[in-house]
Amino acid sequence: MKCPRCLNTDRRYFYKGSRGWYCRRCISFGRIMLEEDSSPAVLSPVTSGSEEYVLKYPLTPYQKEVSHQCALAAGEQDVLINAVCGAGKTELILESAAKMLAQKKKVCFAIPRRQVVLELSARLQACFPNAAVTAVCGGHTDVTDGDLIVCTTHQLYRYYRAFDLLILDEPDAFPFRGNPVLHGIAETACRGTKIYLTATPDETMRRKVKNGSLLELKLNRRPHGHPVPEPRIITAPSVILLAVLLRWLKERDTPRMVFVPTIREAELMAAFLRLFLPCGCVTSKKENRDAVIAAFRRQKSGVLVATTVMERGVTVPGADICVFHADHSVFDEASLIQMAGRAGRTFKKPDGDVLFLQMSRSTLTDRCRRRIQEVNACAV
Ligand SMILES: [Zn+2]
Repeated sequence: MKCPRCLNTDRRYFYKGSRGWYCRRCISFGRIMLEEDSSPAVLSPVTSGSEEYVLKYPLTPYQKEVSHQCALAAGEQDVLINAVCGAGKTELILESAAKMLAQKKKVCFAIPRRQVVLELSARLQACFPNAAVTAVCGGHTDVTDGDLIVCTTHQLYRYYRAFDLLILDEPDAFPFRGNPVLHGIAETACRGTKIYLTATPDETMRRKVKNGSLLELKLNRRPHGHPVPEPRIITAPSVILLAVLLRWLKERDTPRMVFVPTIREAELMAAFLRLFLPCGCVTSKKENRDAVIAAFRRQKSGVLVATTVMERGVTVPGADICVFHADHSVFDEASLIQMAGRAGRTFKKPDGDVLFLQMSRSTLTDRCRRRIQEVNACAV
């Protein structure tokens, strides 16, 4: 037995109801009967001319090469674009999406995180002015059809065998990472080929690259050509770390982001810092977080305390980054690389500062720094 939606084959999840067998592993998306003949989701045909796209900035020669190689492979085989944080990943897939749209093929851009969906769909709409770009995520589900669909990985359950090209952005991010149901649903939503976009491919992707089932295209350079900032690591007792952090914050007049491992620590840290300077705080529990992020972006030199909810997808031009308690078990190599990657992303300020503060030595922070050094060495 196999669930037609999440591809589960584990018998423990199959139950027999009055209408027959169904899968309980993906029951949160509604009951699906195993015997039921699942037909592909019906979507409208692609509009003529929707493939025309405009770029805000011309691509660098490196970006052009990756973009072109990717477009050649799109529709033929799965591709992994392994590009450093801030390399302009979205721009790299426009050519591939355009090629598929010109062939009247359905294209979807799926992202684990809801807050990125609306931002990205607006950007894609600006790039593809003639296409109907539809954002689908919690709170935006009235319209689910379009030439180009941008959705959360959760919403892919609506699109059984619907897409000829499925672009998975940040597939190593929560909640997609390690979630077999979401992986199964992504698999069944795609009837063609996939493109994975990430700076931190996981073990499964690396294995597929090795056995040849996934074509890896690397981009180790940011558009401005500067290296990714390497983190400085300081190990000391927490009282000293707090003093170092305060000094680091006071020495700068840039936007400064302080990442902490837990919601509790974020609240304590924000309360502590407010004794000395104004600061905002963003966690997954905060309801006003969009407003706090918007206010932080407006200021030229604000301070924001955040949990990993902010580790990806949110770009604050010219930011400096500190990870407090970087040796905490909540962080993994990928999240440390993502947080460090928030720094130095603009042409105006390509060299941000990244500081890791930890109470004990950690192989993880060492490994993260080594990975960034390796990537920078490859870019030369
Ligand atoms: Zn299932």
